[in-house]
Amino acid sequence: MEIFDRTGEFERDLFYVDTLAHNMKRSIGVLVCRNKMGNIIFDSGMPNSSNEILNSLLKLGIDPDSTRFILLTHRHIDHAGGSAALLNKLHSSHTQAGIHPFSAKHLAEPSKVFEGGKELFGSFATRMSPVQNSSIRTLQDNEEIYLGQEVVEVIYSPGHTSDHISYFIPSKKILYCGDIVGSFNPKTHKVYPTCLYPSFDYQKYKTTIKRLRSINFETLVFSHFGVVIGKDTKQILDYSLESHQTLEKIVKEHNAKPNKEKLIQEIKVALKEATEIFPSAVRERAAEYMARGFLKGFYLSVS
Ligand SMILES: [Zn+2]
Repeated sequence: MEIFDRTGEFERDLFYVDTLAHNMKRSIGVLVCRNKMGNIIFDSGMPNSSNEILNSLLKLGIDPDSTRFILLTHRHIDHAGGSAALLNKLHSSHTQAGIHPFSAKHLAEPSKVFEGGKELFGSFATRMSPVQNSSIRTLQDNEEIYLGQEVVEVIYSPGHTSDHISYFIPSKKILYCGDIVGSFNPKTHKVYPTCLYPSFDYQKYKTTIKRLRSINFETLVFSHFGVVIGKDTKQILDYSLESHQTLEKIVKEHNAKPNKEKLIQEIKVALKEATEIFPSAVRERAAEYMARGFLKGFYLSVS
């Protein structure tokens, strides 16, 4: 498999943009699809990512004002956070932000998402502006979004959160998976869980991975971080399952001698590399959120 992990065009009319969030390279990326009928930006980065995204589009020769959709995978601040700022800076009144119906209210009134983002990201989470109701389009599972000849399929993908959507473009065999598959390290090709507390649900994650396996994709785009290209790309789903099973094994071994705090410490150690997508100041906290998230999500799946 081939990896693309920087700002640029990786396939005709398909671009990846490193948002340079928290002044870091390879932390948060977005996908951009150029189309004569209007471009699509998949996810929007952090609330303060909009300038980097728009400047990158200009440098890549893409007119930001031709953006037709900002298609969001889920409500988290590092994905939906930049949507209002982007919409406000575009000189276009017909751009819509697409999101699962569960989270439309959080785009219109983002205080809860911002508070949640602050808990995890601390001062790296800047204030999120509301999106006007008229600019929000709610998306249903299996819905097809047409832009001329191009179609984008909406794949409901719960697990990381209950509102998570993935997007599939059949003509390009490309799947934008947001956070559902995990986070990807483009250097080592390892995949790590994104099992954040309180929303992670292990059973739903596994069901979603099974569904994604049935989709005919050959390019997988992560938000954290990069693009995986090639006929063997589906192997990434196996790597993702294996990384979750490693945590499952730790939990099961502990069941005989339950000591929750010790167990959380052990899971945190196993997740050390998974926190490298976060600024170093919040990695310890991110590990704690993921360890508690995995435990909660695991017990949900066995209860
Ligand atoms: Zn997320």
